[in-house]
Amino acid sequence: MKAVIILTIVLLLVIPSAGVQTGTDVSYTPLFDGERAYDHLVAQCDFGPRPPGSENLSRCRDYLMEQLTSHGWYVVLQNFTYLGVPCSNVIARHNITTTNASYIIGAHYDTRPRADNDPVPANRGRPVLGANDGASGVAVILELATVLPISVREDVELVLFDAEDSGNINGWSWIVGSTYYVDSMTASRRAQTRAMILLDMVGDVDLRLLRERDSTRSVQDAVWEIAHELGHSDIFIDQLGQSIIDDHQPFLRAGIPALDVIHHAPFPATWHTISDTPDRCSPQSLECVGRVIEVFLLNYAGSDHVFIPSYDISLIVTSVVLLMMVVVVCLYYRYRQRVCDGVQINHFGALNAKSLILRTNDLCVDI
Ligand SMILES: [Zn+2]
Repeated sequence: MKAVIILTIVLLLVIPSAGVQTGTDVSYTPLFDGERAYDHLVAQCDFGPRPPGSENLSRCRDYLMEQLTSHGWYVVLQNFTYLGVPCSNVIARHNITTTNASYIIGAHYDTRPRADNDPVPANRGRPVLGANDGASGVAVILELATVLPISVREDVELVLFDAEDSGNINGWSWIVGSTYYVDSMTASRRAQTRAMILLDMVGDVDLRLLRERDSTRSVQDAVWEIAHELGHSDIFIDQLGQSIIDDHQPFLRAGIPALDVIHHAPFPATWHTISDTPDRCSPQSLECVGRVIEVFLLNYAGSDHVFIPSYDISLIVTSVVLLMMVVVVCLYYRYRQRVCDGVQINHFGALNAKSLILRTNDLCVDI
């Protein structure tokens, strides 16, 4: 009885603090260069709109692979077909034979086939250039690929997802590439992965990053703490945003701690419009995000730190309710035992739906 009450109290005390992280070191001097990242953003847009299966995307993919390879990464293409369209995730690793990196940094490199959010109806059939929605996250990853030290690279995998942004067009789903990637992970590979960080729409000139609601709190806290220490609390805003359908979701469903760093609540005005162009993005925004992620990896990659996965709040509520019911039942029988004062008749065995306990002259009887 006492143990149950103590367990309940411990659970109630421990659960709310489960996501808190402390103790990051921001004394490193980040090397991430926003201007170089911005050049990568412009280079992607120079290929034109890049929807899945397009020639533009294929040429852009070659550029991405060339950049990653030239900075010492081994690149693997993960090919798949979706609704008859050939697609490819681009995976970069430090060592071609090693696939046990603890951290995955991801972004989607495809762009939306239609600007269906454009304020001008006539533009809604035109493709999105995707300077922010697509190229910005990839640009940060390409610059990270340049500046990360070897000791960190060994524990990091860089993944550029295909087929993220065609949802609700011609029968397509969202996040197709990342779903395929996670479905292809073995159980041991999933268990090895300590955190996945997704970078999506991180280049807007007026960048605002709220805390995405589904992201793993422990990873999010660590990243937001570093941003605060680096003086970027005006961009990494300590405010809860919304749940976003994005490439981090398949990782969360697989039980892998995952964080979506995304401009949302609201999305930038250029989102899914023909105005999603490089002039609406800035090197400063890319540098802010890039340096935060760089310092995060310098802190955690190669360490033995384990991030606590997101807990299922409905499971916790159910557990607490069940525990409270157990406590109530225990208290009831303790009370009844006292009432009966040691003289018991048919205490448990003969209980039925109509049984009722009465106290009569210090005797318990069932009627
Ligand atoms: Zn999009």
